[in-house]
Amino acid sequence: MFDCIILGAGLAGCVLAERFASDGKRVLLLEKKEHIGGTCYDFYDKSGILVHKYGPHIFNTDNETVWKYVNRFSDFRIYHHRVLGVIEGKKVPIPFNLESLYQLFPSTYAECIENKLLDKYAMNTKVPIMELQNQDDPDLKYLANYIYEYVFLHYTQKQWGMSPEEVGGTATARIPFYISRDDRYFQNRYQGIPVNGYTDMINHIIANENIHVLLKTDYHKVIELDQLTHTIKFLGLPYNGKVIVTVPLDELFEFCFGHLPYRTLDFKFETFNTEYFQEICTVNYPNNYDFTRITEFKYMTGQVHPQTTIVKEFPKQYDWKDKSQEPYYPIPQEKNTILYNKYRTLLDEFSNVILSGRLADYKYYTMSETITNALGAFDKYCVDNIK
Ligand code: UDP
Repeated sequence: MFDCIILGAGLAGCVLAERFASDGKRVLLLEKKEHIGGTCYDFYDKSGILVHKYGPHIFNTDNETVWKYVNRFSDFRIYHHRVLGVIEGKKVPIPFNLESLYQLFPSTYAECIENKLLDKYAMNTKVPIMELQNQDDPDLKYLANYIYEYVFLHYTQKQWGMSPEEVGGTATARIPFYISRDDRYFQNRYQGIPVNGYTDMINHIIANENIHVLLKTDYHKVIELDQLTHTIKFLGLPYNGKVIVTVPLDELFEFCFGHLPYRTLDFKFETFNTEYFQEICTVNYPNNYDFTRITEFKYMTGQVHPQTTIVKEFPKQYDWKDKSQEPYYPIPQEKNTILYNKYRTLLDEFSNVILSGRLADYKYYTMSETITNALGAFDKYCVDNIK
């Protein structure tokens, strides 16, 4: 018998499996995909190049606990992600920073803007685009509107199917205007890529004899949550252990209140008989084409190979009926939070359930936030169990 059944073997599910298993619990990890790791999954493609099946993942965190945790399971390759965006035909650093400013505008004008910015903000301040747009100074307002138009508006429309205002601050604030000459995508204290990839790291996370993994398994066929009695059945028998939910709650409750919307991505992988395709790991195309960006994996993995593989990302609305699609991005809008909370109320009636992760929380988490959240869920379980 299992002490703990985990629905979903993505990052959250695997971290929680490790935590419970290390605490001596017998864990059953259920996954509908044919692999573990969720959207962090990476693999070697036909040419032998390590690629991220669900788009580029770069690990970055300021949380020392999280960094120490992941380093227990893999060494990390030091890697600082850099992104260029094609703006009016020029490739400039993204997030938009002082370098981008000087590359796009005549130097006297750029200098004037830089001085005005530094009168208001300290060097290395990150200013969300929405805040920059509220400036009174006409030059700063012009710059804000320029960045809004050329960096955010069309990219966000492609990515989210709506304007930056409709998406709200949480998505676009991830890529602020950066008053700096630091052209890295992230400024976090710790950043890198697991040396042998994410799948390898996550395999090490769950390498514990107390963890039993079942792939290609529909949890609905194994677990039953009775909404009348608020009890759980496992293989038709009463189950009193813990159930850890990392899957979407609408799917868990068979969409009884309707579907939580997501954005999803179509990926187009291409391999070229050349060592490198582009000059940097990721090039964003805010204003051209139907894809948002092109990422070339070898830059982040450091792999040496005579060929190279890139991926183009084409965002679209998630259709739950199409089984080939993945629910990637929860859409941070109030009406969706209200719907999510209805499902959450159903789940909260079950005393032996723990929730964790991007899908179960319906939040746009980074990998670091996912791990923080999973470790926090386990700590809360420990505190609750001492009481
Ligand atoms: N964004 C944008 N233009 C860019 C890069 C990002 O408008 O060139 C906005 C867009 O709304 C995007 C959000 O900022 O969804 C977050 O970007 P990030 O690169 O963090 O997205 P992720 O890697 O999670 O897809």
